[in-house]
Amino acid sequence: MMEKITCGIVCDLLPSYLDGLLSESVKRKVEEHLEHCKKCRDVEQAIIDERERERLSEFNRGARFKEKLKSVKHYIIGLIIGFLFPFAVVALWFCILMIF
Ligand SMILES: [Zn+2]
Repeated sequence: MMEKITCGIVCDLLPSYLDGLLSESVKRKVEEHLEHCKKCRDVEQAIIDERERERLSEFNRGARFKEKLKSVKHYIIGLIIGFLFPFAVVALWFCILMIF
C-alpha cells in the first residue's frame, strides 16, 4: 500500500493523471488527495485551462493557416488566369490569321 502522497507528488503526477496514464491504485491516491486538497485542485484546473488554451491557439493557428492558404490559392488562380488570358487571346489571333 502506498502512503498518503504529498502535494509535490500529486503535482508531478497531475499531467499523467489527466492523460489517464496512471495505474488504478495511483490514480485513486491522486483522486483522494484532490478531494481534500484545494491547492492541488487549483493546479489541476490550471493544467486543464492551460491545455485548453493551447488547444484553442493550435486551432486558431490552423484556421489562420487555412485562411492564408485559401488566399494564396486564389492569388495563384488569379495569376494563372491573368497569365493565360492574354496568351489565349494571342493564340486565338494566330488561329484567325492562319484561317484567313
Ligand atoms: Zn495537495
